[in-house]
Amino acid sequence: YVRFENVQKSYDGESLVVKDLNLDIPRGEFLTMLGPSGSGKTTCLMMLAGFEPATHGEIFLNGHPINNLPPHKRGIGMVFQNYALFPHMTVAENLAYPLKVRGMSKVEIETRVKRALDMVELPRMAGRRPAQLSGGQQQRVAVARAVVFEPDLVLMDEPLGALDKQLREQMQYEVKHIQERLGVTVVYVTHDQTEALTMSDRVAVFNDGRIQQLSSPKDLYEAPTSSFVAKFIGENN
Ligand code: ATP
Repeated sequence: YVRFENVQKSYDGESLVVKDLNLDIPRGEFLTMLGPSGSGKTTCLMMLAGFEPATHGEIFLNGHPINNLPPHKRGIGMVFQNYALFPHMTVAENLAYPLKVRGMSKVEIETRVKRALDMVELPRMAGRRPAQLSGGQQQRVAVARAVVFEPDLVLMDEPLGALDKQLREQMQYEVKHIQERLGVTVVYVTHDQTEALTMSDRVAVFNDGRIQQLSSPKDLYEAPTSSFVAKFIGENN
């Protein structure tokens, strides 16, 4: 469903930050890209989202090559670490935005915004601005906005990175719950081992532009295939 085929990326025309990536992500999977800083995870998301071109290779979505498709035509929802909610808009307006740009009717927009707010358990926050919400609430709005237009695929890059530990753990559970309920495919980027092991169906461990191991959390933990993976998974656990 999502396919990276021999994908490489260089920013400077010389060094490769993504080296020959091959990866298939089936529909409905929660796949996490885990790895140290600079290993190429965010670059992979940027190529999938359409913000960075691949230097070599092809990316497919539902069997179609998308290298030449602009971001807004890919139908992908996104959540990033710093929320990136529009500060001058209310919560409801933030959620309505991706629906408006898709030309949806006012009635349809109202229905969907309400449903999305119920889903993230913020039904009474519609009229507030982002600054009037807690960090966790802002993050929930960001998740709601990424799924409000019912995308097949949602990309999340360190979405919980700015939250304290307790909230982070609660949000891990909530994000996973929403993903399962919607049956949406998620590609999730983190350098937090615990987060990856808790939330994912499969984890792709990145190092230096390559996937070192791709397996279930259980196999990753119990049967690391290299000393790099063993060491990286062992940290902070
Ligand atoms: P992090 O967890 O720190 O975000 P990452 O695994 O997501 O790391 P990337 O952000 O993909 O890694 O970066 C991979 C490499 O590409 C790094 O060496 C980085 O400096 C470089 N890089 C990333 N974005 C750009 C850019 N826009 N221009 C030039 N080099 C970049």
